[in-house]
Amino acid sequence: MSSCLFCRIARGEIPSKKIYEDDDVLAFHDIHPAAPVHFLLVPKLHLDSLLDAGSEHEALFGKMIGLAPRLAKELGCDNGFRVVINNGPDGGQEVFHLHIHIMGGPRPWKRL
Ligand code: AMP
Ligand code: ZN
Repeated sequence: MSSCLFCRIARGEIPSKKIYEDDDVLAFHDIHPAAPVHFLLVPKLHLDSLLDAGSEHEALFGKMIGLAPRLAKELGCDNGFRVVINNGPDGGQEVFHLHIHIMGGPRPWKRL
């Protein structure tokens, strides 16, 4: 079993402020928010980053992109939000389990 931080959060072994969960994905609030609303959407399947992704993951990513506005609006981001995926060391990634940052709320707020 993976000792990866977000795999452990997905298994419920490490607590998170959960927003949404289904068989494929989990959304939870970022522990160090960079915006008034800042949550992470992660697949339960472990992929290090988009560098590991293939055509077999297209349906999963489509689902995640579809969920992003729905969850953002549920958290009050009616006026827009930002989506960021950091990939690999040169992409500024720190947790090597693929995740989408979703950030919104009144600007200005710090850019990642
Ligand atoms: P990245 O640089 O794209 O890998 O971003 C990793 C993000 O994970 C950062 O914004 C962290 O604040 C966030 N993070 C790290 N540990 C946790 C945790 N236990 N629960 C929620 N968010 C976390
Ligand atoms: Zn993982």
